Amino acid sequence: MNQVEDLVAAYRILAEHGVIDAYGHVSVRSASDPKRYLLARSIAPELVTQADIIEYDLDSNPIDPRGMESVRERFIHGEIFKARPEVNAVVHNHSPSVVPFSVTETPMRPLFHMAAFVGLGVPNFEIRDAAKGTDLLVKTPYLGQALAKTLGGSPAALMRGHGSVTVGETLPRAVGRSIYLEQSARMQLQAIAIAGPGGKIAYIDESEVKASVPAQDYGRAWPMWRAKALAGIKSKG
Ligand SMILES: [Zn+2]
Repeated sequence: MNQVEDLVAAYRILAEHGVIDAYGHVSVRSASDPKRYLLARSIAPELVTQADIIEYDLDSNPIDPRGMESVRERFIHGEIFKARPEVNAVVHNHSPSVVPFSVTETPMRPLFHMAAFVGLGVPNFEIRDAAKGTDLLVKTPYLGQALAKTLGGSPAALMRGHGSVTVGETLPRAVGRSIYLEQSARMQLQAIAIAGPGGKIAYIDESEVKASVPAQDYGRAWPMWRAKALAGIKSKG
């Protein structure tokens, strides 16, 4: 598998699903050097091609930027790769339905089998605990480290008033998790609205989470998503 082509496909897939807008990004740890990762330059995700991919060290310094501008929030990726050796892909996005959960006391809870990983815990990164008066962007190594600390061993973390980050041992898993995190947030908002104040919601329980998560690698969806994304690039030329 061509890692750069997979990463280009990941950008297109996330844009297609409305998970990353003009500002989200996805990275993958280099298959040839675990101390490096690949991330697109500062460009709208729908426009990413192989020529836009830059390699970084884990301090998020570009190896050969070829005159291209790096995304300011790249430290999210570098610091998570440093803190989580088993993680090989990171998605950062501003997908809209998760944001309300980042600004209220209502935690995200698992209620949809495709997003059972929510049951492993989705902590909320409060950037004020690390620095006051920021523009909410994680654009320094220090803020990246603070976010990685909040994420801990979890599959995803919310970022208060900003968005979220999802991680996976593989690129399909990180991409799938961010698609289904958005869907799960939307479904939870709907369930809360239907149930009404104090109404009962049948969340996925701990044993169901345990039974579901290991198999949840989105292996069936990925080839379809990838083929569609890459076909879209070819048809546009
Ligand atoms: Zn952001």
